[in-house]
Amino acid sequence: MQRDTKQKRAILKVLTGTRSHPTAEWIYNEVRNEIPNISLGTVYRNLRLMADAGDILELDMCGAVSRFDARRDNHYHFRCERCGEVCDVDEPVHQELDEKVAKVTGFTVSYHKLVFVGLCRECPGTPISKS
Ligand code: ZN
Ligand code: MN
Repeated sequence: MQRDTKQKRAILKVLTGTRSHPTAEWIYNEVRNEIPNISLGTVYRNLRLMADAGDILELDMCGAVSRFDARRDNHYHFRCERCGEVCDVDEPVHQELDEKVAKVTGFTVSYHKLVFVGLCRECPGTPISKS
């Protein structure tokens, strides 16, 4: 669909232009500069389609709202539990973990995703206690 293609292009442009792993709402606000009449629902729908197609990554933040990433290769992330910042972790994916878990469980492991949680450099202090 022609209109969807234009919308997807605008969304992808926003996503490739940031390293912040934004939420759908943030992306929506940026895309509106280019397509003022786009709806939040349309942005959500296109993000889902693009994630399903493997064009972008949807990051499951374990209860927090999903973040999106234009970088498609498997890589680790860190989420600050105080300010919510999500960034890439410069550490190669430990493929041996997949083999280890496959051996222990007897399951066929395709891959693993990993999000480290803690405090970023801008958020010093003691970690927020889990309730
Ligand atoms: Zn922080
Ligand atoms: Mn990333």
